[in-house]
Amino acid sequence: MARRKKSRFRKSAFKGHLRAASKSFLMRPANNRCQICGYDKYIGNLSFHHKNPETKSFNISMMIVKYSLSKLVAEASKCILACHNCHGEIHAGMVCQATIDAIPTLDYTRYRLPIDVLKWYCRRKKKQ
Ligand SMILES: [Zn+2]
Ligand SMILES: [Zn+2]
Repeated sequence: MARRKKSRFRKSAFKGHLRAASKSFLMRPANNRCQICGYDKYIGNLSFHHKNPETKSFNISMMIVKYSLSKLVAEASKCILACHNCHGEIHAGMVCQATIDAIPTLDYTRYRLPIDVLKWYCRRKKKQ
């Protein structure tokens, strides 16, 4: 019984680790900071905003464990990184369009996928 408890714990811990690794990787092009105000205290307060809402196919933070990292990267490439404050202001129309237009979308071409996430992804691919 103790054994079962342990393995369940490890599985959830791994998922948490995976989520954190994927998220920090996805935020790297913006240096883990809000591209509008520069907020960088806590990555949990940062989220992805689709620069052009028409190109949005899914919510990245909701799918961070479900989808492969390459799929997440493809989606995040259409986004800018904003803190919850700025993100709210964008959707309320309080940030002028010229400011948003001037911010480059996240660019992953310079980054390699982190190895542990890749390993997990390969294992998952085999299973499917
Ligand atoms: Zn901000
Ligand atoms: Zn948004």
